[in-house]
Amino acid sequence: MPPPMVLPTRRVFVDALRALPLERVSGTCPICQEPFSGADVPVRLPGCGHIYCRSCISEWFHSGRPNSNTCPLDRTTLFKLPLHVLAPSGSGSGSGSGPGRARRNAHHVTLVQGGSIIAVNGMPTREGYRSIVVDLWFFTSYLFRQAENDDLDGLSVPDALLRRPIDDAIPRGMEIPRAMIEILVAVARQMMVLHSENWPRVHVLRPEDADRFTDLLERLAVGLDGIEGSLY
Ligand SMILES: [Zn+2]
Ligand SMILES: [Zn+2]
Repeated sequence: MPPPMVLPTRRVFVDALRALPLERVSGTCPICQEPFSGADVPVRLPGCGHIYCRSCISEWFHSGRPNSNTCPLDRTTLFKLPLHVLAPSGSGSGSGSGPGRARRNAHHVTLVQGGSIIAVNGMPTREGYRSIVVDLWFFTSYLFRQAENDDLDGLSVPDALLRRPIDDAIPRGMEIPRAMIEILVAVARQMMVLHSENWPRVHVLRPEDADRFTDLLERLAVGLDGIEGSLY
């Protein structure tokens, strides 16, 4: 099975793994070779369907190996590799001047995710905006599902509730102008509409929607550059 076009982050993927009832599982865990037991709940990987002890597969996912975002048996890619910080915070001296620069120097980091640079000096690249869009899609789908389960109208959740998936979707080390948050609230709301149209099916983010939202954020970011607003 080919990998989906957009992949969740490791945290989203691991959170979404559901324990399988023991009576529906037979055989042994491919990692520890032990029969499945109540001591360690088995989980099935979405996509390829392979079953492992939760602790065994979790250890693999967190091993830091270059292919630790794949199924150990068939190498299905399951999620984006975690962020790597290329350059730790610098001294803040050197290039740049002016109030905006001075503030940004506190976060002199380049963030890399899955081989793509998503932020330079804390400022998102196009890939960075794309990463926020993809993660926001997953986090808003959880929020929508939760709202439906709680018998709330997913389309009328207050802005304050939408802030949570937005906070979760912005990687640490990335700087987002405060004005961008309002735009992200609007994007999150559009995503909630898409979730409601798909409900109760859960849809992967279509590439054309990912592009549309990424374009929007990137275009608006250019307009926001230079605005003296506090950073988020
Ligand atoms: Zn195991
Ligand atoms: Zn597999």
